Parts: sequence; C-alpha cells; structure tokens
Amino acid sequence: MRVGVPKEIKVHEYRVGLTPEAVREYVSAGHEVLVETNAGAGISASDQAYETAGARIVATAAEIFAKAEMIVKVKEPQPSEWTQLREGQILFTYLHLAPDPEQTAGLLKSGVTAVAYETVTDRFGGLPLLAPMSEVAGRLSIEAAGLCLQRHSGGRGMLIGGVPGVAPARVAIIGGGVVGTHAARMAAGLGADLVILDRSLPRLRQLDEHFGGRVKTRFSTQQAIEEEVLAADVVIGAVLIPGAAAPRLVSREQLSGMKRGAVLVDVAIDQGGCFETSRPTTHASPTFEIEGVIHYCVANMPGAVPLTSSYALNNATLPFGLALAARGLKAIEEDPHLAAGLNVHRGRITNPQVAESLGKPY
Ligand code: NAD
Repeated sequence: MRVGVPKEIKVHEYRVGLTPEAVREYVSAGHEVLVETNAGAGISASDQAYETAGARIVATAAEIFAKAEMIVKVKEPQPSEWTQLREGQILFTYLHLAPDPEQTAGLLKSGVTAVAYETVTDRFGGLPLLAPMSEVAGRLSIEAAGLCLQRHSGGRGMLIGGVPGVAPARVAIIGGGVVGTHAARMAAGLGADLVILDRSLPRLRQLDEHFGGRVKTRFSTQQAIEEEVLAADVVIGAVLIPGAAAPRLVSREQLSGMKRGAVLVDVAIDQGGCFETSRPTTHASPTFEIEGVIHYCVANMPGAVPLTSSYALNNATLPFGLALAARGLKAIEEDPHLAAGLNVHRGRITNPQVAESLGKPY
C-alpha cells in the first residue's frame, strides 16, 4: 500500500504520524511511504533520516493526500485537510469526533474511511492507543509540579524530594489509573511523600503491591480527598469516568484551606477537569493562581515533549497501522479491536458512541 505522512498543521503540534523507525518497518513489509518535507522537524527527524529509512520525501501535503491510499497522522484533520480526503482512502489518526460536528461533517462528506486512535480497543478492555499519551502526561505532571513549586513560579519554594534532613513534598494523586501510576512512579523516584487515592479497591491493591509499600493508598471518599488535599504540597488530578465529564472533587472553598503556594496539576482537564477552579491552559501560558494555589491545567500535555510522545505513540500504533497497510478494509473486518476504531466510513458514522453524542444516525 502507498502510505502518506503529512506534516501536522494544527497550532503548536510538533508530533509526527510516523517516526523514521516506523517508516523502516512499513518499507520492509513492502509498502511505499511518502513523507512531507520537514514532517519530522518537531522531533529532530530530518528528511534524510526518513530517506535512509526508505521513505520518499515529497514537497507538499497536497501530493500526499492525492497519492496515498492511507494517511497516518497524529491530530484530527484540519478543514484544509478534510477537503483533500477521498472515498477509498484510509485515515488513521486521533479524531475525537464526539464534540466536533464540523469535523464529522467534513469527514462524512469526503467519503474517507477514518479509524480513530482513541477508540481502538485491546483484549484487556483498554484503549491501547490512548495509553501512551496518558503515560507521558502522568510522568510530565510531576516535572510540571516540580517547576510550579519553585518560588519564582509562585510555588512554596520546595524540592519535591527534599534533601537529607529536610522533609520532601507531600504529593496526593487522585486517580490511580495510567496517568496516576506514571505520576506515582516519577514522584516516588524523586522521593516524595506520596499517597494515591482511587475509587477502585482492586486498583489500590495492585498499586500497593506494585510499589511495595513505597506509596500510601487511600480509598477515595470526600473525607479522604479533603484531608489529603489540605495537607498536600502537590495534588495531581488523574481521574477518569469513561464517557463522562470528570467529577469535580475539590471545591473552591477547599482551596482556601490549602497551603499557600501549593500546586494543583489537573491532568483530567481534557475531560473538563476535576478541580472546581480549573480551566484549560496552554503550554504558552500553563499556569494561573487562585487563593494562592498554583493551577497547571494544560489540555495537551504530551505536546510539550513531541519526541518522546511521537515514539511512544508509534510503538502503539505500529501493529495496527501495518495491519491496515497489509489488508486494508479486510483488517478492520477481521479484527474487532480495529473495527472499534472505525468512526466514519463512506459517508456514514460507524461508531455508536460518536453517533449518539452527535445526535446522528448510526
Ligand atoms: P484511567 O482510566 O487509566 O484511570 C482513571 C482512574 O480514575 C481509574 O483508576 C478510576 O478508578 C479512577 N477514578 C474514577 N473516579 C475517581 C474518584 N472519584 N476518585 C479517585 N479515583 C477515581 O485513565 P487515565 O488514562 O489515567 O486518564 C486520566 C485522565 O487524564 C483522563 O481524563 C484523561 O483524558 C486525561 N489525560 C489528559 C492528558 C492531558 O494532556 N491533559 C493526557 C492524557 C490523559
């Protein structure tokens, strides 16, 4: 199959659909790969690195959209890209169609077959193409908290790990899923005084076992959250209720009882946020302060580390992408997990949740 990788054009998006390493896998499986010039610039992957991997560099995205049978991207197509997609072509990327009727209309009109990373499933009931970005966001949340805790950022002016003779920061992580576990790994590695709260007892048992007593776990009740938040120097919001907006777990009123210069990192901001005072921020201006508490609420955290994120994403997308390239629509028919990723096909919405959220027929 002829596979195309256009340069991402969404503002501040530096990731790339295929890394040179992934291109080599496609090419050695017998596929032809077209890559737009400078597509890898954001991850320091030169055109030459792509050529060495076996890709052909082309000058414009238009040529890729015209010639490729499958387009591999990172972000949802932008309006100028919808119009270049066509029936018979496969689009493999993040789409997030449920809240986006305009993009959905564009994709329906194009006739394209669109497989969305975020709805592809695995045999454990997970979302394997979302997990790598949660891993990145979880680890990054502690780096972000460390910077916010510094005095010049408005923070308490302390080190997460302290030093011998000085206590470390108290870090409370609400939600012990993928984001929470990876945040805990980083915080534990730095030597934080750490507690993870979750509503799932089996999850708390796993975390207790996994961290071998290095981390305290608490069942997430209103009382437990209040006690931990009021005592914390850093709170990481990492909850998810699938298919629903994030629950508001910390109120504005509780904020006033927190330590001045404490830090809230609301990773769940992309689902509306789990602190009452959260509002989405950007990497250009990531924080704001309310009641002396620093809020970090960047909605696309992995975008800050496009190199790590692109490789992490490619590791997860590669087997699915190779299957699509080898067998086209048959791969979707044969694999229920890829079929779960199919959101739009030849002018029809093919995912029941997406159809329901948009009030469209399925
Ligand atoms: P996950 O499903 O792996 O984990 C969520 C956890 O939250 C589960 O263990 C669940 O039991 C727990 N939970 C639910 N309600 C709770 C409550 N009231 N108290 C305590 N725990 C509760 O999800 P994830 O992949 O870790 O994602 C977490 C959030 O991070 C999601 O909202 C996701 O969209 C978001 N996220 C944001 C970014 C970003 O850039 N901001 C990047 C990746 C993921």
